[in-house]
Amino acid sequence: MSANPPVCLPVRGFRCPFCGSRRRPYIQESVSSAGWMWLLVTLILTSLFAILTLFFCWPLLIGLPVFLIIGLLGLRSKDEYKVCSDCGIKLG
Ligand SMILES: [Zn+2]
Repeated sequence: MSANPPVCLPVRGFRCPFCGSRRRPYIQESVSSAGWMWLLVTLILTSLFAILTLFFCWPLLIGLPVFLIIGLLGLRSKDEYKVCSDCGIKLG
């Protein structure tokens, strides 16, 4: 008869394929690759726009922050993945 309660309640149906732990995995977030691509594309477009406007119509540079904001919106696209709380392996 063991009366010791587990430190972290086991989750029914979960089992880490790597270390076999049944402890609840924790959720981590990271910016998705699509988000990074989006930022890269908008940065390239922004620099092209900046060069063109500098040569032809520099007051249009006022529009630059709009491009940057659109680019940063891409970073809001996040990927969630579970991480084993024992061995730290990514569980997808
Ligand atoms: Zn594990």
